[in-house]
Amino acid sequence: MELKNKRVLVVGLGKSGLAAAHFLKEQGALVTVSDSQSASALSAELPALLEAGIAVETGGHGVLTFRRQDLLVVSPGVPLNTEEIAYAMAAGVPVIGEVELASYFLKGQIIAVTGSNGKTTTTSLIGHILKTAGLPTLVGGNIGTPVLNLRRVSTHKHWVVLEVSSFQLETVTHFHPKIAVVLNITPDHLDRHGTFEAYAAAKYRITIAQDPSDCLVLNAEDVPTQLTASHTKAGIYWFSPSRPIKQGAFVHGDGIYFKQKEGHRPEPIMPISEIPLKGAHNIENVLAAITAARLAGVPKEQVRAGVASFKAVEHRLEFVRKVNGVDYYNDSKATNVDATVKALESFPKGIHLILGGKDKDSDYRTLVPLLKDRAVAVYTIGSAAEKIESHLNKVVNIVSAGTLENALVQAKEVAQPGEVVLLAPACASFDQFQSYEHRGRVFKETVNGWAE
Ligand code: ADP
Repeated sequence: MELKNKRVLVVGLGKSGLAAAHFLKEQGALVTVSDSQSASALSAELPALLEAGIAVETGGHGVLTFRRQDLLVVSPGVPLNTEEIAYAMAAGVPVIGEVELASYFLKGQIIAVTGSNGKTTTTSLIGHILKTAGLPTLVGGNIGTPVLNLRRVSTHKHWVVLEVSSFQLETVTHFHPKIAVVLNITPDHLDRHGTFEAYAAAKYRITIAQDPSDCLVLNAEDVPTQLTASHTKAGIYWFSPSRPIKQGAFVHGDGIYFKQKEGHRPEPIMPISEIPLKGAHNIENVLAAITAARLAGVPKEQVRAGVASFKAVEHRLEFVRKVNGVDYYNDSKATNVDATVKALESFPKGIHLILGGKDKDSDYRTLVPLLKDRAVAVYTIGSAAEKIESHLNKVVNIVSAGTLENALVQAKEVAQPGEVVLLAPACASFDQFQSYEHRGRVFKETVNGWAE
């Protein structure tokens, strides 16, 4: 992709927007950035941009700024149906995201992981297995280092393991993973994608540039994920926690097996008891990671060693502390209903669940059967509280706690030894916190701050 003297507009100044702006400038493009936030809100980023000779538009988007470009690079946080972007598209300006842009310049072979839930865990786990096995490996994308910044250090020998979100996939056409993984597709971000079909279609794009020598790893037990198979030219591998499958990884009895090809003997990888992560959903993540690692050529003994030595990622069903016999778990990253379902399924009973935050057009009624079975009480917080309470319709004891700190105080008072206090809020955090990490830290600091 030739960028020299091209007029390129970067829309949205998040981490990846900043990386894109500086990269484009280095490539000789005439770069402008446009962000709807005010100049004062962006004061940390502006000096370096201006110093680099990048033009900056803040406090809104000008239609003319958008039309005069040869290319738009849109940050994942900015919806494509933003009026000015739609105008530019209608005027024939190509619109891509950072992942698509990076794919023209990255060296090495890409392993890309998408899905509604489990991306970070699985991406980190694949990275950990490959690194433990001594393969040159870089990890980034939606987690950690933006893809464009990995480009600087990537070589043809590297495996580049990337977490990619539906927002990042919306605009890819050339992004070409050697191994692509789709973990699951369950309702999320419907406020942004509009319909479940549009959301799923964005995920299917992960395989858009793959060819028959590439691999696509799919969840055999999730119907929307299975449909990815009809959008690909790549070789398909499956994973299943419940039945032997033709090609890929599966659970049989107490063990995990991998089958390289249909008709081959399944090779035993490891006993399930060696998986260091909690919850049935993590078995799925492990199966996906094992498949990707085997396809990348990691020998099975080293796959086993890599999985067994992996540590849970922060804010994902993270054990915090036992206080008066009660276990406190931080699953702040459970930002949708399906993730909360998985968290509830990880504890057989005695759950005090902290639920709420910023609603994402979710249906909380899905939680009712599990709550009836396993929960002692639900503590609602944040702006979604009223909707949650009406959806749960008093099937469990509900405490309108308002804030996370108050929910913890109330739960601490009544929770009995052997029970669990679980933050798995099924909502975004932005009504009361800066991010899910911030929410998780407040949970941990509060719990760790108690004398006993
Ligand atoms: P992502 O990066 O896709 O958000 P994470 O690994 O950060 O995924 O996990 C997000 C949340 O989803 C956590 O609450 C975690 O417990 C839950 N989760 C992890 N893996 C799965 C899975 N395979 N299916 C459903 N929920 C999962």
